[in-house]
Amino acid sequence: MNRHGWSRTTAYAVGAAVLLAAATGCSGGGDSGAASAALAPSGTTAPAGSPSPRTGTATPPPSAAPAPAATDAAAWAKWNLTPLPPAPPAPADKPVKLQRTGPVPVFSEVKTADKVVFVTIDDGAEKDPKFVEMLTDLKVPVSMFLTRDIVKDDYGYFKKLQALGNHVHNHTVDHAQLSKAAPEKQRSEVCDAQAALTQQYGTPPLLFRPPYGDGAHTPALNSSVQQCGPRAIVLWRESMQIHDMQYQAADRKLRPGDIVLAHFRGPKDLKGETMTQMFGEMLARIQEQGFAVARLEDYIAAPAG
Ligand SMILES: [Zn+2]
Repeated sequence: MNRHGWSRTTAYAVGAAVLLAAATGCSGGGDSGAASAALAPSGTTAPAGSPSPRTGTATPPPSAAPAPAATDAAAWAKWNLTPLPPAPPAPADKPVKLQRTGPVPVFSEVKTADKVVFVTIDDGAEKDPKFVEMLTDLKVPVSMFLTRDIVKDDYGYFKKLQALGNHVHNHTVDHAQLSKAAPEKQRSEVCDAQAALTQQYGTPPLLFRPPYGDGAHTPALNSSVQQCGPRAIVLWRESMQIHDMQYQAADRKLRPGDIVLAHFRGPKDLKGETMTQMFGEMLARIQEQGFAVARLEDYIAAPAG
């Protein structure tokens, strides 16, 4: 593979599929609730700024509407990428249903037959403006697990990504190894990050990820998370490196509903590669396997009320 490993771009028209998604992209607002205000436009098809239809009776435009697809293809070509398949509509019946109280579930994938994976990006060290441009162009949904002390010098960077419809979640105050921490330290790592991220981003993080996944299955950490507000602990199945993903599965293949871990990293941590190069390679690995990227929060029902 050459150093960058970019795939040759072929700009396929995906008009029909986009149209289908547009026609069914609204599930009728079934489980609105606390999180709905934050669940910003999840449509991957509507042009930026255009209101998505909120009624179930919205009629799709007749037959060919090639403009959005053509725009998409051009956007992907700009980044030397082949477009991913469009994500299917968000499921009306969410596979993950979170409870308001009690132990929080720990999961690494979402049960779904949809040929989708979910992209999560951790920490927040690299704040590359080009990455904002890339996500603006490609409209690939991501979920951000931010570490307070790594992002606090520029909370605003992640607000730009949030404005694209992406959600912010909790990844501790200073990336401590939680299984080695006393209960009070665990609580402050989760609760203090929760407070700061809530203040900055306007919504309490719904999800928590412990650094390194460490302690995720311990009762002590579960208790700390419960006390601080997040309602699930989210791990991962694949971890993006520089050019390829590490797979937990022996066959090194994505499966529907897998959660993929990536990091906000730049050339210092990626042997000279940039954040957008790394992310492009990750999308190419996903595209090669025929998967779409869906929004994780579209598959999760926040606690009612
Ligand atoms: Zn981390």
